Amino acid sequence: MIEAEKLKKSYNENVVLDISSIKIRESQIVSICGPSGAGKTTLLSVLGTLVKADNHKEQSLKILNQDINKMSLNHLAKFRNKHLGFIFQFHELLDEFNVIENIIIPSLIANKEKKMLLKKATEILKILNIVDLKFNNPKNISGGEKQRVAVARSLINSPSIIFADEPSGNLDAKNADELHKLFFRLRDEFGQTFIIVTHNEKLSKISDKVLKLVDGKIQAG
Ligand code: ADP
Repeated sequence: MIEAEKLKKSYNENVVLDISSIKIRESQIVSICGPSGAGKTTLLSVLGTLVKADNHKEQSLKILNQDINKMSLNHLAKFRNKHLGFIFQFHELLDEFNVIENIIIPSLIANKEKKMLLKKATEILKILNIVDLKFNNPKNISGGEKQRVAVARSLINSPSIIFADEPSGNLDAKNADELHKLFFRLRDEFGQTFIIVTHNEKLSKISDKVLKLVDGKIQAG
């Protein structure tokens, strides 16, 4: 599903990520843990194809058997929109749009038909238990609900892999547990893979795989 070899990322000649090899299989919940500044967000962004790794000849990144380094920018943007979903800590919902409109935005970008999308978004909202909120403005719903809407938005294109950067970092313990349960349910029901930067020990303990980063390197173990 994801195979990476010799991934390095430097900023101003400072190496912040130095990974020899990563393999992530289908239907896995993978936690990326480690202290602040260890390179977690950088790793998530490189694996999520949002940030390019340093260019050197041994480096390789394959996602869904496709060589990311061989794609043009245009092809990569389409690949990302179709196969990858993203959830951020601060959900990034747009207050100018209601909940269901926020959810279908990534699909409108992919030129899909609006009526079909509204139906699909409604189905997703039902699964996430927030269908009653569909015409609400994001300003008027709680933090836990906003994060569920962000999850719904990440699912609209039925991505194979969902990347999440501290998705529960801003939630209380109960809402965090609920969100994590939802990830496992989606893994079980739809076979999706989740790659999650988290400080939440409860989540990393029950994950299928943990990548522990220290100073940009994965620690054995
Ligand atoms: P973490 O997510 O574990 O807190 P990050 O991946 O955000 O760590 O950052 C790792 C290191 O890379 C830090 O030292 C950070 O300052 C540096 N860094 C991250 N992004 C940039 C950037 N765009 N420009 C320069 N330095 C960066």
